[in-house]
Amino acid sequence: MTPRVRFAPSPTGYLHVGGARTALFNWLYARRHGGTFILRIEDTDVERSSAEMVTGILDGLRWLGIDWDEGPDVGGPHAPYFQAQRLDRYQRAATQLVEQGKAYYCYCSADRLRAERERAEACGEAWKYDRACLALTPGAIAAHDAAGTARAIRFRVPEGRTSFEDQVHGTIEVDNATLEDFVILRSDRYPTYHLSVVLDDVEMGVTEVIRGDDHISNTPKHLLLFAAMGVPAPRFAHVPLILGQDKKRLSKRHGATSVMEYARAGYLPDAMVNFLALLGW
Ligand code: GLU
Repeated sequence: MTPRVRFAPSPTGYLHVGGARTALFNWLYARRHGGTFILRIEDTDVERSSAEMVTGILDGLRWLGIDWDEGPDVGGPHAPYFQAQRLDRYQRAATQLVEQGKAYYCYCSADRLRAERERAEACGEAWKYDRACLALTPGAIAAHDAAGTARAIRFRVPEGRTSFEDQVHGTIEVDNATLEDFVILRSDRYPTYHLSVVLDDVEMGVTEVIRGDDHISNTPKHLLLFAAMGVPAPRFAHVPLILGQDKKRLSKRHGATSVMEYARAGYLPDAMVNFLALLGW
């Protein structure tokens, strides 16, 4: 099977060197195996995303010489490649999961959830959603809907364990009891990252997900969603984040973190690519 990989930045900031490295590894993998490299813009956080950031990310990738086979400007068979233009798909998928009994409507107010969480944390406990809405009768649901109560959709996490073979880390396994029934569609009808990333990876035929280590804890949730949608999951490879000399996540304190700052400072793109490729070789 020819690989289909993707780089899926959220345009809430410029192209960070860590993101550039993840993009580069995906691109190299696609080019090495004659596969397809997809660029997908994850702009569902409308308040924090901007067209300017999208332009900055595309410019940064182009400066590095990373081209994409499907995505903004070039199009492709799975357009649109902007998540904010795919909202109807996420809404349909979430509704379908409710119809199949794999997800349910949640009418809990943010105030109640916050209070419960704070109460648990004050006792030094972690709080996870108490499934109050899983037990609602059809009558109670109809009453909420008639009253126009805001409703989100939560995924019903099944019992059991979820494990996967990470291509970098080896076997990773979690007890599903540690996961809460996470929200997949918010009350404003926008998807959470978990739903949009999984549905798009399914629809775009992604075969391997190569992304930062910071997403490892999300992967079991994603695997459960792939299973609920009845499709095989892609392979996963979580690559390390770029850290500073002090082993802390790279931030302004360490110097320039934006790829374009290096461009402006006169670094040659080949030098940047070479550095990113060899880092952690
Ligand atoms: N939009 C996510 C991010 O920027 C993408 C994560 C992923 O590759 O699944 O972190």
